[in-house]
Amino acid sequence: MSTRATAHPHAASRVQVLYTGGTFGMADHGAGMGPRSGIGAEIADLIARYEEVGRSVELRYAEFDRVIDSAAADSGTAFRIAEWVRYRIESERPDGVVVIHGTDTMAYIGARIAFEVRDVAVPVVLTGAQIPLGHPGSDAERNLHLALDSIATQPGPGTYIGFGSALHPAVRASKRASDEYDAFTTVREFTPPPSPPALLPRRHSTATRLPVGMLTVFPGLHADLLSAAIRQYPGGIVLECYGSGTMPHGADVMETIRIATRRGTPVVVITQCASGSVDLERYLPGRALLEAGVISGGDMTREAALAKLAYLVDLGLSGGQLRDWMTTNMLGELSNPATPPLVPVHEDALTARSR
Ligand code: ASP
Repeated sequence: MSTRATAHPHAASRVQVLYTGGTFGMADHGAGMGPRSGIGAEIADLIARYEEVGRSVELRYAEFDRVIDSAAADSGTAFRIAEWVRYRIESERPDGVVVIHGTDTMAYIGARIAFEVRDVAVPVVLTGAQIPLGHPGSDAERNLHLALDSIATQPGPGTYIGFGSALHPAVRASKRASDEYDAFTTVREFTPPPSPPALLPRRHSTATRLPVGMLTVFPGLHADLLSAAIRQYPGGIVLECYGSGTMPHGADVMETIRIATRRGTPVVVITQCASGSVDLERYLPGRALLEAGVISGGDMTREAALAKLAYLVDLGLSGGQLRDWMTTNMLGELSNPATPPLVPVHEDALTARSR
């Protein structure tokens, strides 16, 4: 990693910028765009322009040794970035950290960082671009400035995605557009727990324990596909089901799930829907899933569910403990239990019921 520091005489916002790759700094290599390293001087220029309107930033800049297209992120990438963020916070004591990252996996990586650095006292803001720095119509500068603004206004500790026109809590964010400046959306309301649950002990090894995976169900899902996925990802599987948590529920599919959960492989059910939550008691297929031993993922986004499962499995949690944590709102990734009714209850019905 390369590092450069730029000091300023006035009280400034101390910001650590970490560049991991992505379109933000990409160049056209002739056969399509690819990552480019060594953009520290350009970042310093962008910061200088940010300061032209009276703001002041004390910049610390570092790059990944090997910058990547974020599509190349593997199961250990998020943890490595999170450890880097933590190290920089502990050693440099910045007011906030900006992680420049590719948009394709930003929500997955951001969600995992959110769990990993839940205890740190400063904001971590991931940003990137749809069009590279220096190219016509680039949003790189604007997005970096948004991230810096976010740190200056101190949204509070937590991990965010600052992109386009908004700041999104990472555990509720998803990439929604490959061709618009507002690439991300806050899929669901951010509902941090009224009192945060106890911190889990930190992991010190960078080794991923058991890989976790995800599978979207669809009409015609074959038990063999599910079984292959479970074999490949013994750490656990997030099943992106229909509606309130239903899926093709033939005997062979259900038996595959039952065998996995009995063996101790967690199967977490989330919904493909953009709003609403899993309610496994509502329909027969959902009840069958419950009986087969699945864990309800409530209304978590796919990115947050995968990140949380991987985080807990990497911490060595299993069985009832894993289930308890998966269903506990740790940092706003799940709605709090006292959520409003799914179908609004009419005032008259309430009066009639209380009579
Ligand atoms: N493929 C790029 C990446 O995720 C896309 C982007 O950054 O917008 O690295």
